[in-house]
Amino acid sequence: MRVPIVDLVGHPGETRALSRAVPAAEFGTDPWGPTVSSVHDPVELDLHLDAVVEGILVRGAIGYHVEIACARCLQLGAHDLEAQVTELFIDPTRREEGEEDDPGYELIDDRTALDLSTLARDALLIDLPVQVLCDDACLGLCPECGADRNAGDCGHRPGSEPDPRWAALEQLDLPPG
Ligand SMILES: [Zn+2]
Ligand SMILES: [Zn+2]
Repeated sequence: MRVPIVDLVGHPGETRALSRAVPAAEFGTDPWGPTVSSVHDPVELDLHLDAVVEGILVRGAIGYHVEIACARCLQLGAHDLEAQVTELFIDPTRREEGEEDDPGYELIDDRTALDLSTLARDALLIDLPVQVLCDDACLGLCPECGADRNAGDCGHRPGSEPDPRWAALEQLDLPPG
C-alpha cells in the first residue's frame, strides 16, 4: 500500500496522522503466512508518520481480522488482532556508507512515497500469538482416533491405554443381542 509523503520528506519534525480502513489486497496478494488462513477486510491503520532526518518514522497500531486454525483442534476461527508498530523508513540518500539496504523499509519513487505492505505483513506475523486457541477450554483432537473432542466423546480417554482385553473383544464378531 503506497502512501505519498511529499509533504513530509525534508521537513524533520512534521507529522501526519494516517487513520484509514483499507482492503487487505492493498498489501499484496501473496498468502499472509503459514499460520494465517486469510486476512479479511478491512485492515485498520491507526498510524502517525513522523518526518525525521533519516527518513519517515511510522508508528501506531494496525488492526487485522484474521482466520487462524486452533492449535489444539485445528478448526478455523475468526480473531481480531492489533499489532503495535514503530518502523523507520530510510531515506536512501541518507543511508550511511556500507549500510545494508532494507527492502520494504525505504522511501520509494524518488523519496515521494513509502509502501506499507512489508510492514503490515511483518507486524501481523511478529505479533501473532504463538498458540491461537478457539477457546481456552478447547479439548483438542483425540490422539487415538483424531476425533474433535469438542464435538462429542469418542470414548477414548487421554493418557490411558485401551485395555487389551477390550481390544480383543472388539475383534470378535458377536451376534447381535
Ligand atoms: Zn480448538
Ligand atoms: Zn478417540
